[in-house]
Amino acid sequence: MNVAPVIPLVVAVDGPAGSGKSSVSKEVARRLDFGFLDTGAAYRALAWHAEASGVDTGDAASVVSCLDSFDYRIGTDPTGYAVQVGDTDVTEAIRDPQISAVVSAVARVPEVRRHLIELFRSIMAAVDTDGIVVEGRDITTVVAPDAPVRILLTASEAVRMGRRSAELAGSSAEAVGEQLRRRDAADSKVVDFMTAAVGVTTVDSTELDFDQTVDAVIGVIRAEQPAFAPESSVPGTQISEETP
Ligand code: C5P
Repeated sequence: MNVAPVIPLVVAVDGPAGSGKSSVSKEVARRLDFGFLDTGAAYRALAWHAEASGVDTGDAASVVSCLDSFDYRIGTDPTGYAVQVGDTDVTEAIRDPQISAVVSAVARVPEVRRHLIELFRSIMAAVDTDGIVVEGRDITTVVAPDAPVRILLTASEAVRMGRRSAELAGSSAEAVGEQLRRRDAADSKVVDFMTAAVGVTTVDSTELDFDQTVDAVIGVIRAEQPAFAPESSVPGTQISEETP
């Protein structure tokens, strides 16, 4: 397949909840001096905005009616990541389990997806870095199907649940696991992010720790686009000796 060179280089990363794609993608972007775009944050911010506006997130028409007043801003600097809705910094608030519980209902509304996909493409086109790592559920298939590097980041369900409950101190492992399973089931009715589409490279992080997963993703970028990830420009990419 002949792929025309795209500047900036888009690295598309999809995967289920708890696969580590946000933190791994952010670190990959940091090491390569690329931009970083967390698309899940936009769906979460819209869910937050709907709740803050007193809208029923289960009602598609009501959610769509929120789009006009959805003043969403996200930076693409992986070291200074912040999410804003209007004047409110919602970087922390959108991670609340209450938002995780309702975000899938918001994300399945076709008009919402159309609106946000346009937004993501305009953010991708506007970055002034050599590349951008864009992560989500449908980046490799819908948002940027022509991206020169496309990766599906997976991990076993047990490992994903373990990682997520470690992040959410105070919640029981069962509650976290149940919510993650429910969200994956709802999300996978909208897009298939559990199997790699043709041309998408799978990185399975089940047996890898964080640094090893970052190294593996950079390894895929280097193999597919060597000019964008030369050995010398990527410090700290040795495979760690530590067990996961
Ligand atoms: O990645 P994260 O878990 O923050 O995503 C939150 C939610 O946003 C997902 O559960 C999914 O419903 C939605 N999402 C999506 N498409 C994307 C990214 C996220 O539908 N590209």
